Amino acid sequence: MKTFWAATAAFTILAAAAFGGGWPDGKKVAVVLTYDDALTSQLDIALPALDAAGLKGTFFLTGAGLKPETIARWRAAAAEGHELGNHTVFHACSRAAYPAPERYTTETYTVDTMLTEIRTMNAVLTAIDGKTSHAMATPCGAHMAGGVDYLPALRQSGMIKYDRGVGGTAGDPLDVPSVWFAGKATAADMIKAVEDAEKTGGMVVFGFHGVGGDYLTTTTEAHAEFVAWLEAHQSTVWVAPFSTVMDAAAKK
Ligand SMILES: [Zn+2]
Repeated sequence: MKTFWAATAAFTILAAAAFGGGWPDGKKVAVVLTYDDALTSQLDIALPALDAAGLKGTFFLTGAGLKPETIARWRAAAAEGHELGNHTVFHACSRAAYPAPERYTTETYTVDTMLTEIRTMNAVLTAIDGKTSHAMATPCGAHMAGGVDYLPALRQSGMIKYDRGVGGTAGDPLDVPSVWFAGKATAADMIKAVEDAEKTGGMVVFGFHGVGGDYLTTTTEAHAEFVAWLEAHQSTVWVAPFSTVMDAAAKK
């Protein structure tokens, strides 16, 4: 996982302004903050920063990454308005992405086994937050299973309404582009991505892994400074969970 993301996080993939203007309360741009892989640094550092600013984020959890002792904390985050999302059970990616046991690579999956896994993770999330519908983020932003694109079957299943990709496909709610800032990235880099999206009245989805810890880490300082900027710019910048923003985008 680290190898793959170190390569993609080194540069930013700017989200296309796939969805036009017209955000609630006349806001000029929609910003979604997403955090992947159920990492403890997100609970310890990212969540308190968001809570202090009164902002809500989206946390894409994997079943295998969930630590039993953190379940109550994820549940509490959901109860206070953060969104929990589906990042599958085993976070299968292609063999080329990072070293993993063969059975957890997407080459060994079929569309059916992947959809079963997504359904299973939805059930886990419902057990945590009580909600019957969950957004998803495709592991590694890829959506192949055994050489077949599983997005058409996922779309047809109706299990997932919104799915965050990485490079993404402009205008497709099941492959929403995202931007990533880790390592030496600064708050100024993140703010620029918001300002770029604001020029087109669009939306920008941020992806994070560790914050001040774990891996592919965004520094505590850069994250805190960015969150403070978002809080200070709420008259024009709308920060909301992924599904909330996607619902609003769908109405436009
Ligand atoms: Zn992930």
